[in-house]
Amino acid sequence: MAATKAYAAQTAQSPMAPWSLDRREPTPHDVEIDILYCGVCHSDLHTVRNEWGGTVYPAVPGHEIVGRVTKVGDHVKRFKVGDLAAVGCLVDSCRECANCKQGLEQYCLVGMVGTYNGKDKYNGGVTYGGYSKQIVVTEDFVLTVSGKQPLEGIAPLLCAGITTYSPLRYWKVGKGTKVGVLGLGGLGHMGVKLAASFGAEVTMLSHSPSKEADAKRLGAHNFVLTKDESQVAKMNGYFDFILDTVSAEHDYNLYLNLLGTNGTMVCVGAPPTPAQIPAFNLIFGRRSIGGSLIGGIPETQEMLDYCAANNIVSDVEVIDIKDINEAYERMLKGDVKYRFVIDMATL
Ligand code: NAP
Ligand code: ZN
Ligand code: ZN
Repeated sequence: MAATKAYAAQTAQSPMAPWSLDRREPTPHDVEIDILYCGVCHSDLHTVRNEWGGTVYPAVPGHEIVGRVTKVGDHVKRFKVGDLAAVGCLVDSCRECANCKQGLEQYCLVGMVGTYNGKDKYNGGVTYGGYSKQIVVTEDFVLTVSGKQPLEGIAPLLCAGITTYSPLRYWKVGKGTKVGVLGLGGLGHMGVKLAASFGAEVTMLSHSPSKEADAKRLGAHNFVLTKDESQVAKMNGYFDFILDTVSAEHDYNLYLNLLGTNGTMVCVGAPPTPAQIPAFNLIFGRRSIGGSLIGGIPETQEMLDYCAANNIVSDVEVIDIKDINEAYERMLKGDVKYRFVIDMATL
């Protein structure tokens, strides 16, 4: 075991503050990584404040990790000391169930191991995430990244990137698809970039008037201010697909009505409050509502390679770790362009 500096929340009410945790000595299949950058996902905030329930304290979030390999076990094949490496939202799964065998580890039937607040098979207790100096992860769950793009812009691809890439691919969004991306935050801005790069017609659905110019710069063809009823009403029946990335309670029915016949709305945003959806809003127009969780390891690698080949990175504001509590407050106000990323050299 090696002591590693970290930032943790000790209770749902306490701010993030310095803490020390133990990482396991690498086993023959493990990769030890010095973390260089870690993105700040809204799920980190939901978790440390126990908004979904089930958080175990101390809680160390962070699942958008990019770093450099410092040690490898004897059986590790794909990494050597000094290589760049990345870790996303998963650090393990059963590897044997039908879903794991298809590379859908995020839907592991036994239960995937989240990068934080997951069940730690090695140390007991829960897993600790990327707001720390080092992490040790089994090779099969470590991703490779290109050294050609800025590392701080790659980090958010590990959650915001794959969480939007996966449903856009699964629902075959591309040329000829009219897509609405709801919410312009970390996930939303990646949703816009990726959907536009796949050739879709992209409309940003945002409740923040100040984000219109950015939405268009990121690749959106249209902008609809969701606070303006007349703008929203004009889009009734317009979309083939809506990607809902909103983190807070909102009315799903308003957006279901924007779907055309056979349209699908996929929720990736995970507000803690349940939604009420009358069956009639689905029955008329044979509309569907679905969900999607991050992405499996093969698809995450595919997304990283796609972004490297197409020069796609996240738009980030790099912060010192001591400013993480302020960053959370700014994220709640929608004041982030469009992902905070922690420079781990400041820990
Ligand atoms: P974020 O950066 O905070 O973005 C959320 C966006 O939602 C905001 O920028 C804002 O966009 C909109 N929004 C916020 N409050 C709103 C309100 N009261 N009414 C309407 N719109 C509001 O968060 P994120 O990191 O992208 O994460 C978004 C959600 O996805 C979170 O719930 C997170 O836990 C979840 N998530 C899910 C997965 C998954 O696998 N499914 C993975 C990662 C994250 P506008 O200002 O443009 O309206
Ligand atoms: Zn996340
Ligand atoms: Zn499994």
